[in-house]
Amino acid sequence: MSKLPAAAPLDFVGSSAAVCDAVLTLRGDALHAELGRIAAALLSSPYGLFLPCSGCAQPPAMALEGGLAQGVRADGACIGRYEVSGRPYRLEDWRQLEGLAALTGTLLQMHGLAQRTTHAYAQVEAQLAHQSQILDQIHESVLTMDRMGYITSWNKGAEQLFGYTALEAVGRNILFLYADEAAQEADAFAQEGGRMMEVRRRKKSGEVFWASLSLSPLRDLEDRPVGLIAYLTDITERKLAEERLHHLAYYQELTGLPNRRLFARLVDQALTVAQRNETSACVLYVDLNRFKLINGTLGLQVGDELLRQAAQRFRAALRDEDVVAHMGGDEFAVGLFDMRQHFEATTVARKLQMALDAPFQIGGHDLRVGASIGIAVYPQDGQDAETLLRMADIAMGRAKENAQHPDHGVAFYRLDMNHGMQQRMRIESGLRHALGHGELALHYQPKFEIASGRLVGAEALVRWKHPVRGMIPPSEFIPLAETTGLIVQVGGWVLEQACAQAAIWQRAGLPSFRLAVNVSAREFTPSLPERVADTLRRHDLQPHWLELEITESTLMHDIEQVIDIMDCINALGVALSLDDFGTGYSSLSYLKRFPIDTLKIDRSFTTGIPADSSDCAIATTIISMGRRLGHRVIAEGVETVAQMEFLRQAGCDEAQGYLYGKPLPAEEFEQGLRADWVLPA
Ligand code: C2E
Ligand code: MG
Ligand code: MG
Repeated sequence: MSKLPAAAPLDFVGSSAAVCDAVLTLRGDALHAELGRIAAALLSSPYGLFLPCSGCAQPPAMALEGGLAQGVRADGACIGRYEVSGRPYRLEDWRQLEGLAALTGTLLQMHGLAQRTTHAYAQVEAQLAHQSQILDQIHESVLTMDRMGYITSWNKGAEQLFGYTALEAVGRNILFLYADEAAQEADAFAQEGGRMMEVRRRKKSGEVFWASLSLSPLRDLEDRPVGLIAYLTDITERKLAEERLHHLAYYQELTGLPNRRLFARLVDQALTVAQRNETSACVLYVDLNRFKLINGTLGLQVGDELLRQAAQRFRAALRDEDVVAHMGGDEFAVGLFDMRQHFEATTVARKLQMALDAPFQIGGHDLRVGASIGIAVYPQDGQDAETLLRMADIAMGRAKENAQHPDHGVAFYRLDMNHGMQQRMRIESGLRHALGHGELALHYQPKFEIASGRLVGAEALVRWKHPVRGMIPPSEFIPLAETTGLIVQVGGWVLEQACAQAAIWQRAGLPSFRLAVNVSAREFTPSLPERVADTLRRHDLQPHWLELEITESTLMHDIEQVIDIMDCINALGVALSLDDFGTGYSSLSYLKRFPIDTLKIDRSFTTGIPADSSDCAIATTIISMGRRLGHRVIAEGVETVAQMEFLRQAGCDEAQGYLYGKPLPAEEFEQGLRADWVLPA
């Protein structure tokens, strides 16, 4: 035990403060020496020591020879002892040393604890700093969000990828990075963490890019899900490469149209639908005539440009749902679906041929090409795209043999179909010609009021005076004109002609009657009322001279629109009648909604009167129903006196038929008018 340098005596409060200071500022031997010095000062002893130990079983206090010793404990274990000596000691001194030891133990214990906590805290801090350094080092962008999708962290990679700093991004909802309103993706997020997906995101610059996104759940210390960790990588380049590959694999580079492979896929898909719906479909194989000559003489560049322009014209000539493909070279293919009758394909084939009518202006040349087209029909000629293409190709070969003849540039694979088609095509091109060359004429058939016997109307019926074939009946060309759309031109001509004729009779001061014009469903569009009004105006014709006959099929379209058009026509003062009534399927409940004036009993029922009891019943029913709904009723096709008598008895208002008046040319009809045409009493 060493004698300490003279130490100023300390009281207990002073020595407590000194112990506190020492514990906070000193370590190891220095601390121990200071504690010994403080003990000596407190007990005014020449010698004072602090001897550290670890966990020995020191008695708490004991008397030494010429001195005192007191153990220091912390957390129940002995951590050292004080010793003082060099003077006689009393019980009081012992108490003081005991107090000092208790204080020292408590202070050392608290300081140890504080130090350990500080250390652990520093360690956690360092770990976090490491982690965020690691996150910032990796190139992937990593972000976390809470369960509502609000961003809670944002690494350097995310800053680089999106262009937003962490300050700008943290706290905002993840949706602000979405390129499309893909809310369902956010739901997939929440439900299926860990999934890998390809998504589109938007950068701060507005640029949209493809990213691969993988998500994993973020959990708290108790393993409860608190959000998601998202890893994103930019995969735009890979996507673009894939798209380029896809385009190369499925499209013709030159024209941008689908190639044979994609065509086959699309057609096969459509055929499964056609099979389910039991509809027909056609594949057309198109080969350009004279292309090889042009390519060979004017060069590949001109040839390529010609193909590009032809492709554009084909695409523009077809409906969106039709598929057109470039097979390579000068060959194209077209898929037509949801067809009612296979001969509709010939109309499309003609359209494609007409798309090539105008010359191509390329490199200072005016180039003309035609097309030979082969048609294969599903399901007759094949059940899949490849077979149909092969059959259409064979048919195209046959069409090419006849390419010089404009009607023969199209051929069906089936010979029997060809025959009908050629006839149809002859009629179609003939009718086009007829329209422009005065081959059409109108005949007029009178309609009589049964009760008074007066002539009250007439029906204008179109006739085609073919220079070679003579008179062609409308039954041969009207249905065809309806499928090709040519009916619109024919109908336009008829309306014009009928109004012109009625205006002549009006000016001549003849008693007025209703002149009926047949209007097909194709013409019954919202522009019809204006067309009618315009025609009336131009001919200065009173509207009560005109009537439009429509068939039940017209009513089957968009009902509200049909009613609108009818209202407009009524508003003009023009009457409407429902032709061929009883042959269609118009629902009786709808019938009362249509603003029509007259129901026309179809000729097929009139024919059976009076022998066929069901025809009689139908005619009687139509008459009484028509009257109850406030319509006039007329019977067409009245050929016998017996029919006329039956209709008179049943209360039918009017009659039209060969019995008292066949359709006649205008001059002959006019003679009847002037002679005061009436039914014999
Ligand atoms: P529709 O409108 O039902 O015309 C009545 C048809 O019955 C006319 O035939 C007429 O000549 C015929 N007919 C009239 N009375 C008798 C008769 O007593 N006995 C017989 N056997 N026939 C009679 P057409 O002129 O051959 O017309 C046939 C159909 O062609 C018309 O039926 C109509 O649907 C259509 N059609 C005629 N002209 C036009 C037109 O200008 N435009 C439109 N869209 N269709 C027309
Ligand atoms: Mg008619
Ligand atoms: Mg009729």
